[in-house]
Amino acid sequence: MADAIVSLRNVTKTFPGGVKAVDNVSFDIAQNEFFALLGPSGCGKTTLLRMISGLETPTSGQIIIGGEDMALTPPNKRPTNMVFQSYAVFPHMTVAENVAYGLKVTGVPADETKRRVAEALEMVKLTHLAQRKPDQMSGGQRQRVALARALVKRPKVLLLDEPLSALDAKLRDEMRLELTRLQENVGITFIIVTHDQDEALSMASRIAVMDKGAVQQIATPSELYEQPTSRFIADFIGKVNLINAKVVSSSASKVVCDAKGLGRIELPHVGQAQGDIAIAVRPEKLKISEAQPKGASAIATEGKVRDVAYFGDTSHVVVRCKDDLELAVNVQNDKRAGGAGVERGQQVWIHWAPEDTLVLTE
Ligand code: ATP
Repeated sequence: MADAIVSLRNVTKTFPGGVKAVDNVSFDIAQNEFFALLGPSGCGKTTLLRMISGLETPTSGQIIIGGEDMALTPPNKRPTNMVFQSYAVFPHMTVAENVAYGLKVTGVPADETKRRVAEALEMVKLTHLAQRKPDQMSGGQRQRVALARALVKRPKVLLLDEPLSALDAKLRDEMRLELTRLQENVGITFIIVTHDQDEALSMASRIAVMDKGAVQQIATPSELYEQPTSRFIADFIGKVNLINAKVVSSSASKVVCDAKGLGRIELPHVGQAQGDIAIAVRPEKLKISEAQPKGASAIATEGKVRDVAYFGDTSHVVVRCKDDLELAVNVQNDKRAGGAGVERGQQVWIHWAPEDTLVLTE
């Protein structure tokens, strides 16, 4: 990548005792990206972030930041700064003193410190609370203090470890938007660690999805949702119906397979496919009808409604079909008709377009 600010080259971390937390990871993060490391608990994302910050040393591999190998550079000399989950603010200092602290200890002159603190507080919209103590503030405000403390040092890369996990759901939604805006305004590369897919999808420009120490896929949020490369990604990003299938034949542009509960179907697919595969379809792509759909092209199956959960604008319907295949369907509710228009126990047809089906060979 030409404008990479962070480059990871075959980075591995094995902890004493033999746990391989990060396993041969290589990728680039571009200048100004809002990049997310996403994955289930224990997948190695925090360890990777800590290696970028210098708090952890790779067992092997290279970490290059701003074109320089960081192997011999301690955390405080790296052009990075970390915002921790716990916010780590000093309770006995005012907000302004908290933000100034990192500059004071490195000997930045008082007038410059004052200017930069004012600038950082302005960025996180805390100017009016500069003289407050953190214990007189809300969780969201304290989090902004932690952000200002990191931003005041003008890092090239801001590292954020689960920055929203200590906030309640409503505040988390607000802070997601604020963080996205802040990143756009300050023009600093953000690397965020999260296990929350909604958080990553809504904020990041690109996401690396990790599992068991390895990167499974790196893509934009919509690519991850629409073109997952494996069952793990399809299942981890959003809701999905995963159906086991066996390939009967395949050509350059399509695959014929026998799928559980669906029988023999033909799907568009570019690339190799053989043996056992999975096909995946998102719940919002499925349609429900009382009558068998007309036209031969749709994939269709009959079943009985097992569950209907009402969520206002949508209802989530579960239909049990042949071979114990259960399909989840999201139905847009017509308010005037009152809900999904289907009831538990009802016999229905489920159908969808072959092109809305993903063929997953891994
Ligand atoms: P979480 O979301 O739960 O924080 P994570 O994806 O950030 O998880 P890591 O904290 O990077 O995962 O941990 C990856 C693996 O390395 C886990 O199996 C963990 O137990 C192990 N691990 C992390 N730190 C150490 C350590 N200091 N010593 C030994 N093993 C460790």
